[in-house]
This record gives sequence, C-alpha cells and structure tokens, in this order.
Amino acid sequence: MNTETAITDWLAAQRPAMLEMLREMVDTDSGSYNKKGIDAVGAIVSRFMASHGIKVETVAQQKHGDCLRALGSAKAASNRGNIVLMGHRDTVFPDGEATRRPFTIEGSRAYGPGVADMKAGLVMNAFILAAFEKFGGAPNPIVALFTGDEEIGSPEGRAVIEAEARKARAVFNSEPGRVSGNVVSGRKGGVFSAFSIEGKAAHSGGNFSDGISAIGELAHKIIALHALTDLEAGITVNVGLVAGGQSVNTVAPLATGQIDLRYVTAPQREAVMGAIEKIIRTATIPGTRATLEIRGEFLPMEHTPTAAKMLALYQDAAGATGFSPQGEFTGGCADSGFTAAVGAPTLCGVGPVGGKAHSPEEYLELDSLVPRAQALARAILRLDAAGI
Ligand SMILES: [Zn+2]
Repeated sequence: MNTETAITDWLAAQRPAMLEMLREMVDTDSGSYNKKGIDAVGAIVSRFMASHGIKVETVAQQKHGDCLRALGSAKAASNRGNIVLMGHRDTVFPDGEATRRPFTIEGSRAYGPGVADMKAGLVMNAFILAAFEKFGGAPNPIVALFTGDEEIGSPEGRAVIEAEARKARAVFNSEPGRVSGNVVSGRKGGVFSAFSIEGKAAHSGGNFSDGISAIGELAHKIIALHALTDLEAGITVNVGLVAGGQSVNTVAPLATGQIDLRYVTAPQREAVMGAIEKIIRTATIPGTRATLEIRGEFLPMEHTPTAAKMLALYQDAAGATGFSPQGEFTGGCADSGFTAAVGAPTLCGVGPVGGKAHSPEEYLELDSLVPRAQALARAILRLDAAGI
C-alpha cells in the first residue's frame, strides 16, 4: 500500500476519534478574552500530540491564549521550509455558552460554539499531523500552529504566525470551508480604528454660544468617512460604534467613534487610511480637535500567481478525494492575510465545511470532516508535483 492510501485510509477510520476530540473542544468555553479556557483547549491538543509522540512547544502569551507549535518529525527533503497548518482556538462566544449549548449532533450536522469556526479545523490539523507522523511521506516537516486570539485580530498571535510564515514552504489555514464547499483563495484586509473628538462644554440653554459641539463634528465626520466606501473597488468604511455627550442640556464636550475599513490591495489601504486620517484631523466645526488610533489590523490575501498555484494544488488533491471546490474571495479577515503578506504561499478555508459562524445556528457538515482531512493530506503529498 502506498503512503497516500495508508494516510487517507487511516484518516477515514479516525472519524469517531475526531468527533470525540471535537466534542471535548466545543464543550470547553474559549472566548477570546478567556485565557484559561483557550489554554484548556490547548491542553486537549497537547494531550493528543503526546499520545502520538509529537513534540509541542508553548509560546506563552500574556493576555490571550498561549500559542502552541506542534512539530512533526519528518526530515526535510529540501531546504524549502516547513509546511504550516494553522488554526485558532478562541471563539466569539461568552463564558457559559458551552453549557447552554453543548456539542450536539442532529442528522448530518453538528452544533455548538465554535464547532465550525474553527474547532473542527483544529481537530483536522491534529489528525493530519498524526497521520504523517505514523506513515511518513511529508516532503518537509509539518508544523501545526494552534493560536489563541484570532477573533480579535491576533494582537499577540500575529508575531508568532509571521515568524513561522517567513520560513514556510506553504501555509494552509483550516478556517471552515464555505457552505458551497469552496476554499478561500482571497481575502480583504481590515483596519479597526477608534477616534475621539474634543469640543467644549457649555449650558445649552444659558450660554449656548460658548459651547463647541463634539457631537456636531462627529456627525460631519461620519458622513465623510462613509463617503469613502467604494463598493466596486471593494473598499468599505463603516462607523460601527459611536458615543458622546454629557447631558441633554450640555453642548457635547466629547464624542467617540470606531471605524472598520475593509480593502483589497495594499495601495488601497494606504490611500484610504490617509483619507481617514485627514477627515479626523480636519475640523468642520471650528474649535474641535480629534485623534485617531489603530486598534487592530488584518492584512489582505491578494490574488497572486503563487495563490493560484496553491488553489490548483488543492483542487487536484480534492479531485482525487471526490469533490471539486472553487476558490472564493471573501470580505472576512483571517490570519491567512498575515502569512500571505510575508510572502508565504497560502490557502485558506481548507477546514471542514460549516456555516452561520459567530451565531447560535453555527453548524458543521459532519460528512466533510474526513474528506477535507484527506484532501489536505493529499495536497501536502503533492507539493513537489505542484512546483510549490
Ligand atoms: Zn475563524
């Protein structure tokens, strides 16, 4: 039996074990600010790796979940770098959600917080690493990263991810496959920023003219910011949060807002951020002053020849497994943008298929668990042939 058959047969036989691991992960709360919970999900990963003789390094993080780096023992056949599988252990759900809504299976779907986004991807990556550890065949060492803060922009995980990507031959991010079964070959970049406007307080009945309204200025800025949206170019600017004022009968001394910018290419980011900064800097109501602060950022996965090669490689591997995915472009951001931006060949959305992420209706298509694992394993085996 050749290695590919040995690996894909073994993965097929692991479905019950995969579901058991998934159940345990989903039933462990791990919202992005719950370090203890995210590390508890990490402990499940570490235990699994130990039982398969795979080394796990811990990159300790202050505020968020520690980053785990599981390293397969394959010897490099070339010095082209490691094959990196990525996944995040944090979810968007609050503590208690796993108790209220534990892992359940109904028909061909599984439910529970983070079941698709992306605990199923973590399970898949773990079993792929184990399969190659058991049967060999990886053209280069496989590294699986299990990070802990993706849902809030990877403030701590980003550096670990970028360092790994700089020496990677290829990066596969096991975010959930699209509802259509497609993978993600392009993503928008995003910048989350916050601004604060200062005006001058005054009694709005007694001495109205002494006041300078920060809320008035906020209104001008919102209109100007939203006007930067260019749907055709793929640029959106959304002021998603605002606050301001002191009392109904005070001219507002303070107002704040938060902006979500999405874009497609790096030059667009420079141009629109420049325009946003100018709007924040420029006072329409004389006497107001404003400042802007970037709070978080995701880089885009742009269309490149390398990205096209990664997609073709995966399509070939999926074809051999029995499904035919297309590459999709999405406005959603993920860690794959960081790896693509440092030049690592990257493909995203290769995880098991699911939908309605970030909602109570989130589901996983159970019958995609094994085929998606098999397809990714085949893609790893075919890297040489694909010229990556
Ligand atoms: Zn995710």
